[in-house]
Amino acid sequence: MDERLRKEVANWLEFYREMGIGDLNLQGSESALNNETAQTAPPVLRAPQAPPVDKDSLQKPAETLKARFSAPTLQAAAAKAAPKSLSLFEATPAAPGGEETLEKIREDLGDCHRCRLSSGRKTIVFGQGNPHAEVVFIGEGPGADEDTQGFPFVGRAGKLLNRMIQLVGMKREEVYICNVVKCRPPGNRTPMPDEIEICSPFLMRQIRTIGPRLICCLGAPAVRTVLGIKEGITKIRGNFYDFGDIKALPTVHPAYILRNPREEKLLREDFQKIYDFLQTPQ
Ligand code: URA
Repeated sequence: MDERLRKEVANWLEFYREMGIGDLNLQGSESALNNETAQTAPPVLRAPQAPPVDKDSLQKPAETLKARFSAPTLQAAAAKAAPKSLSLFEATPAAPGGEETLEKIREDLGDCHRCRLSSGRKTIVFGQGNPHAEVVFIGEGPGADEDTQGFPFVGRAGKLLNRMIQLVGMKREEVYICNVVKCRPPGNRTPMPDEIEICSPFLMRQIRTIGPRLICCLGAPAVRTVLGIKEGITKIRGNFYDFGDIKALPTVHPAYILRNPREEKLLREDFQKIYDFLQTPQ
């Protein structure tokens, strides 16, 4: 095994150990090691490198490529859902009362006590990342680690999210990451509708200000909040929806994958779609 591959395998094993996964089923990995893919990737796991691009599709005209990312039936479903968030988003001027910035939105949020979540939180977890990101990831709400550190997705789920971001050839600093609610719900329960409603204007302003090409909704609460779709996440994940002139892609929450490691391929498939989408011309 060459040094680069050894390091790669060691990285992945360390990552899986951090995730609490002590046993990997390496059955069949010896024969896999003899084939071409395994010369560049550890057994069972793929190396975190940019996924292959479908070169043919990149040569198609932009319109055809755009069509790939908007299935009409899904758009109809999304339109039927008529998300409140979209009206809120569209009613949010790009620069209300002057220069809108993430700093200004954070300032307006202040030491927020607009809902009951404030009483149990240690820190407001506003969001983190590139203010001009092409992709915004939206989770559910801060967990214990995020509440302590003040940044989104810094715990185990965050480590998995970081790996997936690397898979699409990006760094965490290049994207923007935030949540549907900015304070930790007690016991990590799902945020309640009124808590989401109170927090949503700030989320919509964040999206408006950043102006990403793509929103990736991590898990059902983010899908419900942004797209107004109540269907099960496993049914709708991996499909592109319109959120105004931004595309939105629902996928499973990384915490779900931590609980169901065999389902990791779902997240990988959807991140491959993010990669493909980002290759298309704007
Ligand atoms: N889960 C979330 O939904 N958000 C975080 O920030 C961390 C875990």
